[in-house]
Amino acid sequence: MTKTAYPFAAREIQNYVDGAFVATGEHFDNVNPVTGEVAARVSLADQPLVDRAVAAARGALKGPWGKMSQGERCKLLVRVAEGIEARFDEFAAAEIADTGKSLHQARTIDIPRGAANFRAFAGLAEARAMPSFRTDLPDGRSAINYAIARPLGVVAIISPWNLPLLLMTWKVAPALACGNVVVVKPSEETPSTAALLAEVMDEAGVPPGVFNLVHGFGGASTGEWLTAHPDIDAITFTGESATGGAIMRVAAAGVKPVSFELGGKNAALVFADCDFDEAVAGTVRSVFSNCGQVCLCTERVYVERPIFDRFVKALAERAAELTIGDPWSGADMGPLISHGHRDKVLGYYQLARDEGATVVTGGGVPAFGSALDQGAFVQPTILTGLGPDARCVREEIFGPVCHIAPFDREDEAIELANDSAYGLAAAIWTRDVGRAHRVAAQMETGIVWVNEWFLRDLRTPFGGMKLSGIGREGGEHSLGFYSEPTNICVKL
Ligand code: NAD
Repeated sequence: MTKTAYPFAAREIQNYVDGAFVATGEHFDNVNPVTGEVAARVSLADQPLVDRAVAAARGALKGPWGKMSQGERCKLLVRVAEGIEARFDEFAAAEIADTGKSLHQARTIDIPRGAANFRAFAGLAEARAMPSFRTDLPDGRSAINYAIARPLGVVAIISPWNLPLLLMTWKVAPALACGNVVVVKPSEETPSTAALLAEVMDEAGVPPGVFNLVHGFGGASTGEWLTAHPDIDAITFTGESATGGAIMRVAAAGVKPVSFELGGKNAALVFADCDFDEAVAGTVRSVFSNCGQVCLCTERVYVERPIFDRFVKALAERAAELTIGDPWSGADMGPLISHGHRDKVLGYYQLARDEGATVVTGGGVPAFGSALDQGAFVQPTILTGLGPDARCVREEIFGPVCHIAPFDREDEAIELANDSAYGLAAAIWTRDVGRAHRVAAQMETGIVWVNEWFLRDLRTPFGGMKLSGIGREGGEHSLGFYSEPTNICVKL
């Protein structure tokens, strides 16, 4: 069944600055990728509004938020988690309206994790211990060294469109839990759940100026006005590696701390001794979840030669069984985020052919014979036959596609997996425990899953090597980035 009446049709999405919803008079369209229709008008934050947001944040830091106890702040953040849960269906509908992602994905991953981020970091910040040392001096006296954690100040948060609420709150929650104030710019493609979060902050009683939201584009727009603002104290960003580079150049002028979670070209290594069915099911998930639009998605699969043909056949059969369509219909896969992104992914499908790939399944757009033909859909696609230097094997495509290549030896598999400019995540499928640990330790990535994919514990370090990022967030690592330790040495 196709549901066409989206709840956000004709709605205006506003900025949220100093505790008030603000429109600027300038707008851009929010397009529904399922139908290609305009779903909402979004108020574009101009430079004066970005200035106001930063000033409001600074005021809140000096005012009520800065004076609040850790316990009170964390209680408010738990109230924010409850607020998301109370409006769960509204959040899921908003996420689907912006992205076209499957109902299942929105209900089981995006929105629950949005709430979980606030609960997790409220708990972690309250339980945080800082180191202390007794230092013995030559004259028999001693000193106590102890560190206290102070907020960084005004944190600029720039987030992408693929897991909008999840990735934005992954940064907002620890930043606020550490006592910072934030100015958030969500992706121009996905303003809706950010606006709902502003309402939840308001309802929860978070003081004005603590959470500010500005909508707009990246370079020469809201994103750059925010990251270049002289009165921000740190930048945390998730998005493309090239954008990370651009933000880093701007941040360098003010020597601002940055935390970057960037692109990936993740490998899966499938050994002949794996549980075959588990490896196929896990790889289907890791390639096609969210239409392949998760930074952790697998785009390179290396399979040990004895099971290569069987694995390719099984994966292709499972890919062909995936249902594509309107997210409200329960389809496994919705559209890509936009028609622009579809053009990019289809460009890679064509490039793969030009580079000599065999298209095992997919490679085009599905035909619905309905209004869905106006949507940004592509087929799940499996490629084989490319060499390690093919652009489709080296560049992040960010769509429902993987290339599968055979390997003969463990050391060759490790070399192939590490032969990448990126270093975010890897998946290893084997029943040999010794091999699992040995190979995992040699992956040049920030995250390795063994016989799993995308199992997350929010206390663990998360981030990437090489082009995939700078720094780690998660648990202690987030608390570390979002606070400044001051060591105090007291001579006794
Ligand atoms: P993007 O880099 O195009 O945009 C991300 C955000 O940055 C948007 O809000 C955008 O408006 C803003 N932006 C763009 N240019 C800017 C500039 N010059 N100054 C300030 N802000 C700017 O990324 P995207 O297309 O939204 O997201 C997809 C990318 O994100 C993929 O590469 C994916 O791998 C990556 N990603 C990484 C992680 C991770 O944790 N490592 C998670 C999700 C997505």
